[in-house]
Amino acid sequence: MRFTFLGTGTSHGIPVIGCDCAVCRSPDPRNRRLRASIWLEHAGRGLLVDTGPDLRAQALRAHLPRVDAVCCTHAHADHIFGFDDLRRFYEMQGAPIPVYAAPATLAELRRLFAYVEIPQPESTSFLRVAFTPLTDPHAWHGLTITPVPVFHGRALIHGFVFAADGRRLGYVPDCSGWPPASQTALSGLDVLVLDALRPEPHPTHFCLADALAAIATLAPRQAYLTHLCHRLEHRQTQAALPPGVDVAYDGLVVDLRGSC
Ligand SMILES: [Zn+2]
Ligand SMILES: [Zn+2]
Ligand SMILES: [Zn+2]
Repeated sequence: MRFTFLGTGTSHGIPVIGCDCAVCRSPDPRNRRLRASIWLEHAGRGLLVDTGPDLRAQALRAHLPRVDAVCCTHAHADHIFGFDDLRRFYEMQGAPIPVYAAPATLAELRRLFAYVEIPQPESTSFLRVAFTPLTDPHAWHGLTITPVPVFHGRALIHGFVFAADGRRLGYVPDCSGWPPASQTALSGLDVLVLDALRPEPHPTHFCLADALAAIATLAPRQAYLTHLCHRLEHRQTQAALPPGVDVAYDGLVVDLRGSC
């Protein structure tokens, strides 16, 4: 199991439109962040977590050859508004793409993208997916996908734990806390990717201090911070982190077979 950070930015992405702050003008490519998403590879298959508005650019940049399944954390615009770009993968693969999400998130996807379930006999270019509710651990070609409920402000959304070959990866890009049962699911992972929006507290996201406190409690072998805004400069933020915690950046590849 290995994964690539396709995007590590918050909803605006970085640079932010119309902003000329030092981070938005930074020449360091690690300060350029598309909307949060990862591409997970296991046993020759590829799974996308979230389909944000940058999906087309991300697929081209990372040379994504295929999308065998999609997991959706929640139906906020920065996580789903590239959904129609799955059309090209359906066109290449010729089979509906499974889309896994909690029932409430699936209902919202179905509402916003209702046209994908309407037969379009006159169109040669359309998207077909298989919306699949996910409430319990799900076996997917040697990978176990477990939805983990987390709070995102007052909303209850989901992160995921992916397990294969004795390694466990947690991906929680948007969260401000979690119910007690999720604490167990997220404890002692090999790799944990966690929301760390900005330096100051925020009502619906972990800030940097919140994320570091959670990581200290959950004790993953390695943690990565994601969903960052332009208030966090990459190198400065990285320099202040404890061992075993790194700032993610777009294009970073993490291989769980050898590194943990
Ligand atoms: Zn800025
Ligand atoms: Zn969100
Ligand atoms: Zn988000």
